[in-house]
Amino acid sequence: MDVFKLLMDIVFPEPERCLQCDSPQNVVEIEGLCQECLKKFSYVLNYCVKCGRQVNFSERDKGQKKCNFCKAITYFFERARAPLFYRGAVQQIIADFKYHGKKELARPLGHLLSLYYSEYYKKMSIDVVMPVPLHKERERERGFNQARLLAEEMCRRLSLKLLDNLLIRKKNTPPLYNLSYRERKEAIKGVFSFKKGKRQLQGVNILLVDDIFTTGSTVNELGRFLTLKTGVNHIYVYTLSTADLIG
Ligand SMILES: [Zn+2]
Ligand SMILES: [Zn+2]
Repeated sequence: MDVFKLLMDIVFPEPERCLQCDSPQNVVEIEGLCQECLKKFSYVLNYCVKCGRQVNFSERDKGQKKCNFCKAITYFFERARAPLFYRGAVQQIIADFKYHGKKELARPLGHLLSLYYSEYYKKMSIDVVMPVPLHKERERERGFNQARLLAEEMCRRLSLKLLDNLLIRKKNTPPLYNLSYRERKEAIKGVFSFKKGKRQLQGVNILLVDDIFTTGSTVNELGRFLTLKTGVNHIYVYTLSTADLIG
């Protein structure tokens, strides 16, 4: 055993390595991701007051006005927010996390969510956090539900109450990414149901967590379902990223 090296490691521990690019992580802002990787991300700077999508409003209207898409839609949630814009390096890291088995990315990505929570939701008195459920077959294929891992990490850091396993997704919907809002809305309709314990949602403010907000049709259906079936107070949506509109 190299006692000298051991001693050096204690006095000057090796910096943790970035989970995405494997370089040493010297400045730690987000646990597990280096500064270079964080700089490559697109952050949502200006957003619609309702859906939280990146918009081109003036700085004065940031988070004040609705985008054109939202003017035409009935939402079953108060608002949606996301720190990241789903493109480039953000798209890549989410793909690595979900499809390429890099489950450990839940730690930095959940950390990032927890940091931006104070900007978007600290004042909203959220009672419980619920991850958007995946269909069990999809979860088995992937090995995990990405929304749950993100929500767990965020709740752990912020001491928020996580409510999981209350809901199930009955239908395994095909991937929705190439569908328009109306097509998605039809595809997702009626897919959620309760497993147990819906009474505990009486009068509470719920924060739904997911990885991407695309058209919002999944969280909107979940919001519709919760509004119809429970005496929930307010529903809010918080996703890691928000995408450009399709159709
Ligand atoms: Zn990196
Ligand atoms: Zn909007």
